[in-house]
Amino acid sequence: MRCRLSRFPLTKAVPLAISRGTTAAVEHLLLELEHDGITGRGETGGFDTGHRAYRTDDLAAELEAVLPALESVAPEPFQALEPLLETLSPPARCAVDLALHDWWGQRLGQPLWRVWGLDDGAIVPTSVTLGLGSEAAVLERLERWWQQLPASRIKLKLGSPEGLDHDRALVRAVAQALERRQQSHGVAGELQVDANGGWTLEQARSMLGWLDAEGVALVEQPLAPLEDPEADCAAFAALELDCPMALVADESCWNLADLVRLAPYVDGVNIKLLKSGGLAEALLMARAAGRLGLGVMLGCYSDSALLNGAAAQLLPLVRWPDLDSHLNLVDDPFSGPALEGDRLRPGTAPGLGVLHARG
Ligand SMILES: [Mg+2]
Repeated sequence: MRCRLSRFPLTKAVPLAISRGTTAAVEHLLLELEHDGITGRGETGGFDTGHRAYRTDDLAAELEAVLPALESVAPEPFQALEPLLETLSPPARCAVDLALHDWWGQRLGQPLWRVWGLDDGAIVPTSVTLGLGSEAAVLERLERWWQQLPASRIKLKLGSPEGLDHDRALVRAVAQALERRQQSHGVAGELQVDANGGWTLEQARSMLGWLDAEGVALVEQPLAPLEDPEADCAAFAALELDCPMALVADESCWNLADLVRLAPYVDGVNIKLLKSGGLAEALLMARAAGRLGLGVMLGCYSDSALLNGAAAQLLPLVRWPDLDSHLNLVDDPFSGPALEGDRLRPGTAPGLGVLHARG
């Protein structure tokens, strides 16, 4: 197959601040695989979970190095390429995995969710993200989301460097805004919070009961992820009994092995394609989560409609969709999942169902 790697900028309409810092713009990579007149596309880009970080430049170098091997083989059967994929870091593998899935779906003439037999009628509303900031800035961001979509599910970032008082003030302000919205529009809002590992054990313990009393439905990654798997599990285990709402692992859960390891201590996991290394692992994770009684959150980094269109193929398996990054871009070169009310729907076009502006 013919391979092409290029770079493209992604600029946020509203910069996003979380406990680890603020992102206004990123550069991502587009991998195109062409064979038999079909072009499959995949995306990757750098990201940081606190304990592991990948830079876009390093991912470009990693992919450049594997292009000759890819060019010497055909894109099917997928299984024959697995040994090659296993040599790559998760985000580099994601680009290749997505391009192969896109090619494969187009070859079959179907979107992947349909190939997998999933029910698009099972898709539930996506959440939209409110980053850290002053109370006024966070409420202004919420109003801006409401101009774009119904946004009945809100994910509020916590773990503010300004401390727990600021976190509490943000929760109170957003909970009150949701209550006002319910009175004026008759729509009950769901408030989720994501500390992005920004709390200590003591802080998390003091917050969980309080958050529950404020009506928060879910808390994501209260404590920093740890490289040692046993210590990482122990951190979730230490919170499990104190946590009256759904406890979800994000930065700690990259792949199926992490999911199985964390399953006894959490209510759900946040699957992201850049962590899992693409759709093959993500589908396994989503299926296994269902069997183990865990809820699936499906999240994103600063990703375009290509990565989110790929993730959207899994939406029928997801309890907490959180694919909003492409809704906050001013220069997305792709169009993918369509928004119907506050539900995202995977494209109906074959493969990933994503269109490139270049055609
Ligand atoms: Mg998260």
